[in-house]
Amino acid sequence: MKKIFILLLLAFAMQNCTHSQSKTTPMASNDKKTEDKTAVNPVYSNTDSSKVNLKDEEWKKLLPSDVYYIARQKGTERPWSSKYEGFKEKGTYYCAACGNSLFVSDTKFESGCGWPSFYQPISKSSIIYEADHSLGMKRTEVMCGRCKAHLGHVFNDGPPPTGLRYCINGVVLDFTKAKEAEEKYNKESSN
Ligand SMILES: [Zn+2]
Repeated sequence: MKKIFILLLLAFAMQNCTHSQSKTTPMASNDKKTEDKTAVNPVYSNTDSSKVNLKDEEWKKLLPSDVYYIARQKGTERPWSSKYEGFKEKGTYYCAACGNSLFVSDTKFESGCGWPSFYQPISKSSIIYEADHSLGMKRTEVMCGRCKAHLGHVFNDGPPPTGLRYCINGVVLDFTKAKEAEEKYNKESSN
């Protein structure tokens, strides 16, 4: 009788154990960051794909000065200065001006050029292209498909499968880890 009782107790304990294991541990949330962002920048969203058209002076009020300088004044950050240059975390890169999703980490590669580099954007509509003949060079500028923030340039010396190198200023990128991005997307789209 005692043996049966112990067995039952064991079985019960094991069941409890599997129960607690199957519960997903809540990840450190990135929501605070998003809330902070939308508090100062009402157009910032990772899910709203409607185009953003703001006047330059409005952007100036909404964006941190380094983001404003690159996104709206087509500036360039110093090479090797971005924390995303050699960054290898899995996740999604967003436009720091409007929150539009731009690149996934799977398409990031080490180009050695000093700026975060990708061989493909997340979707065709995530990026806008424009010929850039400034500085006496023939280049193709890439801009955010939602808010037209200047991101960087695209060159045709990238790796397969596209052969393209999207050379992007890290200042205009926001990164969210894969798991957190999924949770945030689910939360925002259910609102
Ligand atoms: Zn944008």
